[in-house]
Amino acid sequence: MTFTTANRDADDERWLREAVRLATENVVAGGGPFGALVVRDGVVLGRGQNRVTRDKDPTAHAEIQAIRAACRAIDDFSLAGATVYSSCEPCPLCLTACLWSRAARVMYAADRDDAARAGFDDRAFYDLLARDRSTWPMPVTERRVDGCEAPMNAWLALADRATY
Ligand SMILES: [Zn+2]
Repeated sequence: MTFTTANRDADDERWLREAVRLATENVVAGGGPFGALVVRDGVVLGRGQNRVTRDKDPTAHAEIQAIRAACRAIDDFSLAGATVYSSCEPCPLCLTACLWSRAARVMYAADRDDAARAGFDDRAFYDLLARDRSTWPMPVTERRVDGCEAPMNAWLALADRATY
């Protein structure tokens, strides 16, 4: 193991422990048992704790909160080069948010089975996504209407669009 790799392992351990600490603190404060942070070049860009019940927001997961805080802090929509550390394996929503953010890496401590044990649906959603949509309890249906391509065409016609 090189010195650099050893350093990175030590940093990963430190940030994961902080994510776990944020998660435990959040439970004490009445929130869900999840914490996350975004780190780039040894600097914490944003921290997040699950705020679903407090904010009445089903998308206020710790990773989403951390990504939003980080992007606000650096005034950018890209987290290229950053690592998202989470106290628990990101659910599909958060994992996709990490992909959209263009983060370089994702690391987590507990996994989807730990979340399932605590009553959270992460594993069930992963299982659902792997199944054919026709078997889902929530129908997801395509119905093309006139003009449904217009937004894409308008976007493509923009000369100065900010691609992301
Ligand atoms: Zn999530």
